[in-house]
Amino acid sequence: MTWKISRTSLDENNLLLNESLFALGNGYLGVRGNFEEGYREDIRSIRGTYINAFHDQTEISYGEKLHAFPDSQQKLVNIIDAQSVRIEIDGERFSLFAGNILGYEQHLHFDEGFSERIIDWVSPAGKEVKLHFRRLISFALKELFLMDIKVEPISEIKEIKIVSSLNGDVSNYTDEKDPRIASGHAKRTFVKEAGQQDTYSIVRSETMVTKLEVSCVTETVVDAAAGYQYEKKIGENAVEETYSCNGSGSIRFTKFNIYTDTLRHKEKLVETGIGLLKKIKGAVFEDFLIEQTAYLDNFWRNSDVTISGDEELQEGIRFNLFQLLQSVGKDPVSNISAKGLSGEGYEGHYFWDTEIYMFPVFLMTNPDLAKNLLIQRYSTLDSARQRALEMGHNKGALFPWRTITGTESSAFFPAGTAQYHISADIAYSYIQYFLATTDVDFLKEYMAEVLFETARLWMETGHMYEGQFRIDNVTGPDEYTCIVNNNYYTNVMAKHNLTWAVKAYKLMEEIDDVLLGELKAALSLNEQEVSEWALAGENMYLPYDEKLGINAQDDTFLQKRRWDLPGTPKEKFPLLLNYHPLTLYRYQVCKQADTVLGHFLLEDEQDLETIQKSYDYYEQVTTHDSSLSYCIFSIMASKLGYQQKAYDYFMKTARLDLDNMHGNTKDGLHMANMGGTWMAIVYGFAGLRLKETGLSFSPVIPKNWETASFNLQFQNRLLSVTMEKDGVSYWLKSGEALTFRHFNQDVSLQSGQSVKISTDSGEPDRSLAVV
Ligand code: BGC
Repeated sequence: MTWKISRTSLDENNLLLNESLFALGNGYLGVRGNFEEGYREDIRSIRGTYINAFHDQTEISYGEKLHAFPDSQQKLVNIIDAQSVRIEIDGERFSLFAGNILGYEQHLHFDEGFSERIIDWVSPAGKEVKLHFRRLISFALKELFLMDIKVEPISEIKEIKIVSSLNGDVSNYTDEKDPRIASGHAKRTFVKEAGQQDTYSIVRSETMVTKLEVSCVTETVVDAAAGYQYEKKIGENAVEETYSCNGSGSIRFTKFNIYTDTLRHKEKLVETGIGLLKKIKGAVFEDFLIEQTAYLDNFWRNSDVTISGDEELQEGIRFNLFQLLQSVGKDPVSNISAKGLSGEGYEGHYFWDTEIYMFPVFLMTNPDLAKNLLIQRYSTLDSARQRALEMGHNKGALFPWRTITGTESSAFFPAGTAQYHISADIAYSYIQYFLATTDVDFLKEYMAEVLFETARLWMETGHMYEGQFRIDNVTGPDEYTCIVNNNYYTNVMAKHNLTWAVKAYKLMEEIDDVLLGELKAALSLNEQEVSEWALAGENMYLPYDEKLGINAQDDTFLQKRRWDLPGTPKEKFPLLLNYHPLTLYRYQVCKQADTVLGHFLLEDEQDLETIQKSYDYYEQVTTHDSSLSYCIFSIMASKLGYQQKAYDYFMKTARLDLDNMHGNTKDGLHMANMGGTWMAIVYGFAGLRLKETGLSFSPVIPKNWETASFNLQFQNRLLSVTMEKDGVSYWLKSGEALTFRHFNQDVSLQSGQSVKISTDSGEPDRSLAVV
């Protein structure tokens, strides 16, 4: 049960939600879990097919456009629809909204990587058929979206007609009432070619402004024991194939759809598509299923997290990990968007969600996938440099708040561009990668430059004042408090960025002085600048309130009135949909973890008491209106020994989409939260930290669990961790000997060796407080 999600009846009220939950993808291509045959006319669907990073550009219209506001933004484009297959039984159209459903099953399989619907249906005229729809998006052949449909007549049927289309006349979804979804620019592509070559159906489209092209070439294979007749219609925007089959026997219909696009395949999209189809000629659905399973076996071997005793939870954890894998870009032009490839919310943009919430999962389980994310960001460094100049800085790199190609796509700067912390977040992920891999080539090729350029940004943004380095007019992660001076999170992350830029400089001096010389020349960097970074880092101002004993979120946060959270009616949440931003900015009210997140990422910057008091304080003023919040509160509750809270917050992450807890999963899955589930287990309950001193753990298993286990990749080693009530086992499955910390003791393991440390072995209880 825990390797799939299932539905056993048609739930008309949650059709759109299920489209997101049952979405398939492979990091390149994504298809929502729409029904092949569609819904009733009056029910709206978000019928979507997407290619990661495949975008158009739309104008941003402002009432008052000020200097350096971006003119345009990118938008993930809904592309050619290959999903549609209409089935007619003796002239009656198969629809779950007519006739009678005798049997209904829908599954998404995490271990085999496919989805299916198994239906027993009786038409309004009383004709019964069994239908089995299966589909997969191949991990092995990224361009392939494969569909397989079996129709089995149960009653006497003369003709079963299958009408399959490839349709370029598609639009994006819009909603004027929700700022998290696009309000206009629905139609972004036009069809340049709809036609056929040999047996292949072809549609090629182009985006309106960016002039990117996408093509889908389809081949269908029909196996109808009792024979069929075939017809192909070519329209202006679509190609339609009709198979009229003798209804006395079963029919198997397989549709091979190959998507190519000019971001990856350059020219000759159609030829490339046909070429790929020729290569797989003769293969059947089951062949791809075998490949798919092999790929996923490998993924789960390193990434699975098992928890005994709670099936719903186990299902949620695996679902989240599976969806992360389905969404992560695996080529140099793609990253992970906030909704993965499961929907159009946030227009397919990449945010800091990647570096702080999703990257850590890949870093510790699949470092190659993690590296690709960093390299994709690196490919946008020139745009970030350009953006820094536009924003009035003389040098440095300012990464955009939201983007696909690297240019700023945020139209609302107080909660967008002003979140300068994204540049430090990116630097942080580079540093974490380096610590997890000690990849010196990576330092030389990418990391040093990124750290230098982001360090420069802080020097440009901040200034020394009475011996302290201060950063004014930025927004931290909490989007209910904007444009403030000395946001704790930003300052502490900038400090880390600056300190590590200096470290990277020194490392480069030792490792490759020549290359460093070249880099310095290219960036016009001198040693004076590097010593200024060191000085700013050492003297970074981190706001602290003596009276409360906490880090102030910024210079004025604690002076504001407190929002009456208990007195706010439930229907007013999320607040952002019900109050003008200025109202929110005037109060102590947080959308998500901010200072608390700073305390997690850089815990050695404060003593435990400050961290605890801060947690207690900010918890009272946080709405968790952003899904990026619960996991951080869970991790920090674990650190502080608030075991029940850690568990309760964690439970909200694990099934957030499955239970539609934010009410907007129809627009796509909350990918950062999904990363957060893994983090709450590994960084939270197991207390993993990755620092210059190496790996450390401080595991405390939640009361409700018997065992919890996971694997980590660390510097070419595979380490397995199992937490049980009576102790924790570490097993170094492969790689060179490793020493790490377990609470305050060193543990050393040889390759293949394991050790169990019992709970009563005398390690200190990490709880400060009893709940
Ligand atoms: C959050 C941001 C996040 C964005 C995309 C917003 O609601 O406040 O922190 O980056 O969603 O997930």
